[in-house]
Parts: sequence; structure tokens; C-alpha cells
Amino acid sequence: METHVALLPSAGMGHLMPFLRLASMLASRNCKVTLLTAQPAVSSAESNHLNSFFTAHPHIQRLDFHVLPIHPSNPHHDPFFLQFEAIIRSVHLLPPLLSSLSPPISALFLDIAAATCVDQLSDDPSLSISYYILSTTSARFFSLISHLPHLTLEDHSKYSNKKLQLPGLPPFSISNIPPPLFNPENLFTTQLISNSRAISKVKGIVSNTFRWFESETIEALNSGNTSITLPQFLPIGPFKPYEDDGKCCSLSWLDEQPTKSVVYVSFGSRTAMSKDQIKELGEGLLKTTQKFLWVLKSVKVDKVEETGLEELLGSSLLGRIKEKRQGMVVKEWVKQEDILAHPAIGGFFSHCGWNSVMEAAQRGMPMLAWTLNGDQRFNAEVVEKAGLGLWPKNWGWLGERLVKSEEIEEKIEDLMQDHKLRSMAQKVGEEAIQAWEIGGTSEKVLGQIIEMLTLKV
Ligand code: UDP
Repeated sequence: METHVALLPSAGMGHLMPFLRLASMLASRNCKVTLLTAQPAVSSAESNHLNSFFTAHPHIQRLDFHVLPIHPSNPHHDPFFLQFEAIIRSVHLLPPLLSSLSPPISALFLDIAAATCVDQLSDDPSLSISYYILSTTSARFFSLISHLPHLTLEDHSKYSNKKLQLPGLPPFSISNIPPPLFNPENLFTTQLISNSRAISKVKGIVSNTFRWFESETIEALNSGNTSITLPQFLPIGPFKPYEDDGKCCSLSWLDEQPTKSVVYVSFGSRTAMSKDQIKELGEGLLKTTQKFLWVLKSVKVDKVEETGLEELLGSSLLGRIKEKRQGMVVKEWVKQEDILAHPAIGGFFSHCGWNSVMEAAQRGMPMLAWTLNGDQRFNAEVVEKAGLGLWPKNWGWLGERLVKSEEIEEKIEDLMQDHKLRSMAQKVGEEAIQAWEIGGTSEKVLGQIIEMLTLKV
């Protein structure tokens, strides 16, 4: 019988994109795939992507999962975390949906952000399936998450210059741990801890990373020497782009620029900077001798993105950018993968969201890391260690201090002119390609996953 699997992404493009890529990879290996789509979606980017994905992949089945609304009195304001919560609280609606699928599914892939659903699902007698988690972060940050229920991080908050050493794992710098994790009451923390508790109940952790890139952590996670028992960690990255027919607005401008002359500036799908910081960034970009393509975001959720470029940048800055013809600023969604693949791009100034890191890694694209929140410092450590990028650590978390235009100027010049960095980044790209060649590390692990799904082992 045909192997049928279901995938349940949570909220935010950083979670949806890797699920769509995994769906397309599994479908290309002859699995029947059903993608559960939590409705209503938080952002327009998510709804638009889902629509174009299903149009381009008619063989992948869509199943809407209508989640229960979260009570408006919930004090947490991040709409993406509230959607994780809504999915988790609607878990009882899943068994009838999953049991209705034909042929019956053999496995469900859940997002790490909603992994706690496994607790309830695995107790349901109507479902006899295996569970996998798709980890949407680096192996390095996953290794911290996996140990969270056994840590009392608030005791460590005072020792920001110290390291946290957990048995069997490479040490963590305490200053790189996202600050909300030191507060046990924070929704980010409580969710991560309960998701982490579910890890031991799944068959495997599928991850968008590759052995060479994070070898020390991946080996540690699979060594059996950690203080807790973990399921198999299954690195199958870098995830490949999936087909769709959308076109990217900025490519015609890039076509006119010389090879490797443009720095691409983007801080992900949901990070909004203050107006003051946006202005320093703009001034910094203008001070450099480099061309730039800057994707600007001023709000977390694109549905409420109303402020125009002129209001954000001020007419003087915007006027000078236009006058010097040195850069292009856009406020709409771009196809980042197409931009990174364009020959005119020579560097990526990024927040180090994990998808962005892997998209840069597979193209050997040098990065400048400006880590703003969440897992990004852990991810930047990987980038720095592999030789893929530079990371000015004294820029702080988002909003901690105003990073001045001169600092930005200096680091962008380094990013674009450092020949050693360029050749090390190229080596990362070569290793990433090798991971996917026949017999390469990621190709082999994907084969192993398909075998586990088919044979139900
Ligand atoms: N992305 C994109 N266009 C945009 C902004 C983001 O294609 O204008 C994609 C990007 O390529 C990546 C994802 O959205 O795949 C963002 O995920 P990431 O983990 O890098 O950061 P997050 O948005 O979750 O902070």
C-alpha cells in the first residue's frame, strides 16, 4: 500500500517554509503527503504561500484544520505564539481529521512549536501511527531545547559571562540564551518546556541541517551520552527549494548589477525594528561603497503593514537612496531564495533565522549576522564556526541599544571585501552540495526516513 504521511506546520513563515520543503521532498520520494493547514493563518504571506504551493503541487493534499480562537484576554501579544497556543489547545480536533485520511497515514510530522500535541495524540486509541518532530532551528539550539525541562535557567541569569555545560553536549554561552528563557512564566518558555517534554515520545527529530555544518552537536545528540534519552536526530538539510510559479519583483534591478556587487539585507519574515534603528541602518548602508537590496519590515504581521517607505525612512534618506542609485528598498514579500541565487548578490546581512542560514549555506553566501532575538545567537555561533559569516556580538539583542550607522558601515565593508571569508563560505556551499549527492550524508538519512515510514519500523 502507498505510504501516506501527514504534516502539521504551526505559524509563521519560518515554520511554514521548511514544512512545505519537507512535503515536497517526501512527495518526490513517492510518499502520499497530506498537509494540515491551521486556519485562520496569521499572516497574508502564509495564506498566499499555501495557495501557490497547492497550485504547483496538485498531488499534495490540503486539509484545513480550523483551530479554536484564543481568548482575547490572553496577555501574550505575539500573534505567532498565540497561534501555537491555539493549535495546541485544538489538538482534540485532530484525531477525527487524521483518522478520516485514506489510505490511513503511517506518520504525523509535527512542528517543534506544537510538539506537545503528541502527548494527547499518542494516547488516542483511534490513531496507530508514529510521530516525528520537524525541528525548525539549528541542531545547536535544539540541543538546548531538548534539555529545558531539566534546567532551572533562572538560576543562571546572573552569570552571563559563563558557560552552561550539559553532559555529552558542547558548552553553551549563557549570554546567547534568549532572555525570555530565564523567565519561567513567559509563554515562550512554558511552551518550549512542554514541547520539549514530548520529544521522548517521537520516533525521530527531522532537521534542516547537515552533518558537516553541525557535526559536533549532531554527533553529541546521537551519541547516547546526553543526560536524557533522545530519539534519533535526522539531519536532511539543506532543504531544497520547492517549485512554484511566482516571480520576484526585485530581480530585474539585480540583473543590471555587476557580479557579487550587492549586499542583500533582510531580517526575516517577522522582525520589526524601531524607526530610529531603521534610520541608522539606512544611513549605514548609504555610507558604504556597496550596493544594497534592502527588504524593510516595520511590523510583525504583514496584514497590518500600512506605513509607507517615505514615512519609515524619512524623505531625506529615501531621496538620497534614490538619488545615489546605490540601493533598492522594498517593503513587500520577496522570493529570498531567488535573490540569494542571483549572481549579483555578494553578501547577506541577516538576523540568522535558521531558514535564512541554510539558504545562505547551500549557496556558499557570506553572511553578516545581526542577531535580534530567539534562537539567532545559537544559529550565528554555527555560522561563525563554519566560516560562513561574521558576527559582531556587541550589537546586543533587538532594542538593547541603537547600533550606529558607522558600525553597520564598517561591518558591511568587511562582509563584502573579506576574501578569506568568501572562500570559506564557498567551502560551506560545496559541503552542502555534497550532503545531497548520491550517498551524501543528508541523502542517506532521507533514504533511512523513507524506509522507516514505508516499513513502519
Ligand atoms: N522570506 C522570504 N521573503 C521575505 C522574507 C522572508 O522568502 O521577504 C523567507 C526566507 O527565505 C525564509 C523564511 O521566509 O525561508 C524566514 O525564515 P527565517 O527562519 O530565516 O526567519 P524568521 O522569519 O522565522 O525570523
